[in-house]
Amino acid sequence: MAPLLRVSDLRAHYVGFGGTRVVKAVDGVSFSVEAGETFGLVGESGCGKTTTCHAIVRLLSPSGRIVSGRIELEGEDLVKKSQAEMRRIRGRRIATILQDPMASLDPLFSIYDQVAEPAYYHRSLRGRSLRQRVMELLAAVRIPSPERRMKDFPHQLSGGMRQRIVGAIAQAGGPRLIIADEPTTNLDVTIQLQYLNLLKDLQRATGVALIFVTHNLGIVAKMCDRVGVMYAGKIVEMQSVRGLFYRARHPYTKALLDSIPKLGVRQPLYGIPGQPPDLSALPAGCAFHPRCQRATDRCRVEEPRQHSPNGDGHVRCWLPIEEAAARG
Ligand code: SF4
Repeated sequence: MAPLLRVSDLRAHYVGFGGTRVVKAVDGVSFSVEAGETFGLVGESGCGKTTTCHAIVRLLSPSGRIVSGRIELEGEDLVKKSQAEMRRIRGRRIATILQDPMASLDPLFSIYDQVAEPAYYHRSLRGRSLRQRVMELLAAVRIPSPERRMKDFPHQLSGGMRQRIVGAIAQAGGPRLIIADEPTTNLDVTIQLQYLNLLKDLQRATGVALIFVTHNLGIVAKMCDRVGVMYAGKIVEMQSVRGLFYRARHPYTKALLDSIPKLGVRQPLYGIPGQPPDLSALPAGCAFHPRCQRATDRCRVEEPRQHSPNGDGHVRCWLPIEEAAARG
């Protein structure tokens, strides 16, 4: 059976300075998401995670464009859709939850108006059934006294409540896929955990699939079934979450895991040396080579191809860690 979403060799670039500067934010990304699955996209800031998500819902900024590739949702290629067709897909079949709830919520409209809108447009609910649906959605995201709270405006709610409202809006059109782009970044740690548990509960109740974008590997471990690690606009490693934590193959993945502080271990924190590359002037060969302790001459001139050791996930590296360890 075809996956719910299949992204194939997607390239999305930003063009500036009269066409003289091309930022290859997404440069040949492929992955799929099954119904009901949580797929994680992880990597440092600026690696192309958010651009990948914006490209999927066709909401790139004016300087951005999809250069090539396919984005198939239930077999339909979204790249070929007009913006009018995409307006019928966004909210109804794919919804998004963004980092900052204040950027998603309109301060001039009540919570009722904002939660009701997708149910009105995409599910044709009206009158009493629309009001009932809004109350159900608010109750599902654990807003206390939903009947009273739905008259409030965003500034009257706490940050955690606002993000839960955004979760209710995402559910309102009954989508099969939700893209959650760092949805807990602006929440404090205890509220983060509540919010992640809430998303998991909603997923169990509705069977919705999630693309979960984060730079936090702890959240990946809690939330995701499979994960793609992005670096410089490419997925450099894809595995099950268990595989990623127990046998990371790409040196960048390994470096990310080594950067996690360990409880009870008294040693200096590890940081990946160097800086992420400028996506408009990528180094030759493997984009990670200036920061990689394993880099060889080949890495500096030849871009690694994607391959699947043992048929489990894939990695883009000339010297994946398992193979290196076996040879050593
Ligand atoms: Fe490091 Fe070479 Fe692998 Fe790139 S291809 S990650 S430089 S070992």
